[in-house]
Amino acid sequence: TEELLIKSEKLAVVGQLSAGIAHEIRNPLTSIKGFLSLLRSSIDKNNERYLEVMVSEMNRIECITNQFMAVAKPQATSIQLQDLKILIEQVSVVIIPEAIMNNIQIIIQAEADISLIPCEENQLKQVFINIIKNAIEAMPMGGEIIVQINKADDHHVNIRFIDQGCGIPQERIPYLGEPFYTLKEKGTGLGLMICYKIIKEHQGTILIESEIDKGTTVDITLPISYINHD
Ligand code: ADP
Ligand code: MG
Repeated sequence: TEELLIKSEKLAVVGQLSAGIAHEIRNPLTSIKGFLSLLRSSIDKNNERYLEVMVSEMNRIECITNQFMAVAKPQATSIQLQDLKILIEQVSVVIIPEAIMNNIQIIIQAEADISLIPCEENQLKQVFINIIKNAIEAMPMGGEIIVQINKADDHHVNIRFIDQGCGIPQERIPYLGEPFYTLKEKGTGLGLMICYKIIKEHQGTILIESEIDKGTTVDITLPISYINHD
């Protein structure tokens, strides 16, 4: 359809742009960050908070360029069989400090005997981090994020992220995953685009359901083994 075409055209443009810009920005960025941290020891107390702001803004730029790079980089993929529960646990270790700061509890519910999944570990982790971050950002008053891992059928596993956040208006759901589509003041609108791209590469699907002020469920289905055409 027309909508899908626009989506993939935008993706291509983003890819070209990001390949060039993100890479060029990263080197000067690294050197500025290095010098900022050198300043830390010699700066006087009154100015310390300016330094804090600079460091946090630099981190933000770094985060955005990393997201661009993830889209642009033709990654050398190494597909290995992984235990999704372990991947989710490793991701939550990284993200729990942010969750705690926001009064949020992450609850993992995994069915026993879930099959291993062929995947690019770091890419799937990136997907999970993006989705959990969105859930955290949707719950400024705190709450629970439930991550369920279930068998979908004989050939698929299902990972569901359920939050109790602000929800997404129905009419906006079709636009999720378009580059730069964000409703946040400081958002990039790249997180879900990356998720869709990576899950598609894994021959999986993402389904988002949401209800305003009730919460959002992001439902990922992944194949237990890739279909090979022999
Ligand atoms: P960003 O987080 O930078 O805005 P994303 O691509 O990650 O970009 O998400 C796009 C938009 O989708 C967000 O701005 C937000 O409005 C909406 N969204 C995504 N996940 C959730 C969620 N769990 N709850 C509420 N809104 C969400
Ligand atoms: Mg996001």
